[in-house]
Amino acid sequence: SEKVRIYQLAKELGIDTKDLLAHLDSLGVEYKSHSSTLEEDVAETIRQLVSEERGEVAAAPQPQAAATAPAPAEAQPAAPHRAPVVTVMGHVDHGKTSLLDFIRKTRVADKEAGGITQHIGAYRVETPNGPITFLDTPGHEAFTTIRQRGASATDIAVIVIAADDSIMPQTREAIAHARAAGVPIIIAINKTDLPQANVDKVKQDLMRLELVPEDYGGDTITVPISAKTGAGVDQLLEMISLVAELEDLRAPVDGPAEGVIIESVLDKRAGVLATVLVQKGTLRVADYLVSGEVWAKVRRMTDENGQTVAEAGPSVPVQILGFSEQPVAGDKIVSAPDEATAKAIVAERRAAREEAEREGIGKKGVTLADLFG
Ligand code: GDP
Ligand code: MG
Repeated sequence: SEKVRIYQLAKELGIDTKDLLAHLDSLGVEYKSHSSTLEEDVAETIRQLVSEERGEVAAAPQPQAAATAPAPAEAQPAAPHRAPVVTVMGHVDHGKTSLLDFIRKTRVADKEAGGITQHIGAYRVETPNGPITFLDTPGHEAFTTIRQRGASATDIAVIVIAADDSIMPQTREAIAHARAAGVPIIIAINKTDLPQANVDKVKQDLMRLELVPEDYGGDTITVPISAKTGAGVDQLLEMISLVAELEDLRAPVDGPAEGVIIESVLDKRAGVLATVLVQKGTLRVADYLVSGEVWAKVRRMTDENGQTVAEAGPSVPVQILGFSEQPVAGDKIVSAPDEATAKAIVAERRAAREEAEREGIGKKGVTLADLFG
């Protein structure tokens, strides 16, 4: 019979990969990663364990008092899962834009009549394993800008490496950035449609950077793809969802919005347009926001299809109209209860900065410690 991989078995049984790994741990079965294969007898044992567990749960007597017993005071329901936010990085010309364009073209929900696909610096796609948010900003600049400002907007880094070029200086840089940020890495080995593509060479070069591919006995996920033909892109999306599941990403949907500015532009007609990635809570039209030293009353929100949206929850990117001045990419946003409070926060921050500048401590440049701290 065929060997089954850990994540495949989890899918078959309808349980989280994490829970399956816990079963393996309890059985003392060793594994390298979630894509390791299992011996058939181990897989069968797990199947039995899971079905027994389900049987026990079904057969357990209903606790009589449960309905009226008060919940323990400290019991906090876990926040719901949220979509992973993915940044694509890699060396110039290795295919970052092509990959982002391919995913966007093939996966962004049908545009309704009147919808215009527009670049807002981030977009969300639906996949069979749930939504994924991609930051669609040039290279790793956005990644570092955001990190320099103390925010973090990325859960998973996809590093694109062209199979005809292998690891280049900006590949190393991208890997260093992802590592510094403590973000899991998925390697997309691109341009596999080219006759001169050498996937094995890329994998060997990765080993030298201590990223040992799974099929070489390590735990680095590598996915061969072609951003041109689309080959492998579905598997890449599947791996992103898998890593996201292991990361157990959650955020509360209720409560005032928190998030980060992804980009902002000054539109001659519309005024300031800012793309915000909501990270916690829900952002709604007419909310007041503060970001750095600017504030906004949200007058309109649109998604990547140019469609007006009334609210945006965790991991959802939206373009906002309503900032009085351009906010800075990488600055955090917080909600304010009203205009007076929003203005007061901004005034306070300005005063604090001016004070610091007068004392000569506000002018130092960004240091390496800031970048990697
Ligand atoms: P970026 O600089 O990383 O954003 O790279 P681009 O997406 O702009 O791609 C650079 C060049 O490589 C362009 O000419 C693309 O058409 C080409 N390219 C990207 N992906 C593929 C691929 O999978 N196969 C082939 N044959 N060409 C690709
Ligand atoms: Mg590009």
